[in-house]
Amino acid sequence: MGILNGTEPKKVFEYFEEICGIPHGSGNTRQLSDHLKDFAKKHGFNYNQEPCGNLIIYKPASAGYEKSPSVCLQGHIDMVCEKAMDSRHDFKKDPLPIAIMDDEVFSKGTTLGADDGIAVAMILAILDSDEYEHPAIEAVFTVDEETGMEGAKAFNYDSIHSRRVINLDSEDEGIFYVSSAGGLRANISLPVDLKDHKGIEYDIVISGLHGGHSGEHIDKYYANAIEIMGRLLSFLQKRMKFRIAELSGGLMDNAIPREAGCRLIVSVENSTTFEQEVAEFESIIKNEYKANEDNMMIYCENLGESERKVLRNDSAKKVIYLLTVVPNGVIKMCREKGQQDMVETSLNLGIMRMSDEKFFLESALRSSISTEKYALSSKLRTIAEMAGAEYSERGDYPAWEFSEDSYLRDMLIRLYESMFGRSPIIKGVHAGLECGIIYNALKPVDIISFGPNISDAHTPKEALSISSVERTFNLLVSLLRELK
Ligand SMILES: [Zn+2]
Repeated sequence: MGILNGTEPKKVFEYFEEICGIPHGSGNTRQLSDHLKDFAKKHGFNYNQEPCGNLIIYKPASAGYEKSPSVCLQGHIDMVCEKAMDSRHDFKKDPLPIAIMDDEVFSKGTTLGADDGIAVAMILAILDSDEYEHPAIEAVFTVDEETGMEGAKAFNYDSIHSRRVINLDSEDEGIFYVSSAGGLRANISLPVDLKDHKGIEYDIVISGLHGGHSGEHIDKYYANAIEIMGRLLSFLQKRMKFRIAELSGGLMDNAIPREAGCRLIVSVENSTTFEQEVAEFESIIKNEYKANEDNMMIYCENLGESERKVLRNDSAKKVIYLLTVVPNGVIKMCREKGQQDMVETSLNLGIMRMSDEKFFLESALRSSISTEKYALSSKLRTIAEMAGAEYSERGDYPAWEFSEDSYLRDMLIRLYESMFGRSPIIKGVHAGLECGIIYNALKPVDIISFGPNISDAHTPKEALSISSVERTFNLLVSLLRELK
């Protein structure tokens, strides 16, 4: 007897518990993929398993739906493996120690993988049963969504014939997702010259900032430590002479940088004025961010006299030029009806580094309109090349663009209203989803994404609402019935 036995909807939770018993962290999904393949064999369904573990299972239409257009149900089979400090769980071999409290399923001290195991369980429950009415189903299970959507990128889309796709990788009941941003990573690399220089060395650190996800939190207008460092250097440049010995900031291009640092060399006679100028800049910038960054700090310490390798004048000018003109943050908000509070295009200046030969800037660009993403990238290229820097792009992935007409969206809104007596929220997300890759591969295609409430996904506190699964599953079953 499993812990979830008897929990409604019964089949969904039976399958969910089965999935929790099979290790399936990203990069380790072979066993679960084979398990799903065995499921298909046992039920006599056609299937195709790709070498990476991606799987598609075909279930014929139920009686009366033979002529209806087929539908694709999709979710990912990998999960994020995070555990509490004191957990001894081994994600490579142990079943998840799941438990129930009130309305929630969770795993003791580890992620639960309801993101996206609950989608897989709901799809299996539908494939397994004769009681639901539906058109032909193409059930698509992808691997390694969590590490960069590698499964969706590698998928052989010729095996999907449906032009209606229901993605079940969303975590807020009552919110239907209808678009997602595409993105790319941009690298600027500027050759620099250094020379030895003597003076008073200063250690400057900008810290205490919020940070956050470069897509989801870019509209909070939190301070970007690298951008602030650029402002400081440009502020000082207009007032006095100084030399740059070190520059660094940020850890990941897809996180808003919370900290940046530099080492500057100043002449002995300028050091008092220098400290006053830094203090003045600190009060100016704190005033600009008083509404949302009240822990911002600019630390400035006199380290005494030293001799360091510093940027030659020409290199320093170019570095400060780049830090001043490279755009950062929200570039444009959406104007479509119902989407006005969503970011359309953004850029996050995420990493700044300097070596003896080069100065580097790395940014994450996002847009729900592909042409805007490329226009922004080309602007960056122009800026970089004007300074004599090299520019390169990597990790390009497509947007899921909002469609004016969507049969699935209209139908789902109508069903939701009639089943629950209130209106759902229709939303786009300013981050990447597998839907973007699927959209790009299958267009023209009608896609919708929804799912039950999952809280604290990707953390050991992840929890799945049982009642929300029941409502979401009923909604999915009703939607399939309407696709006649
Ligand atoms: Zn997910």
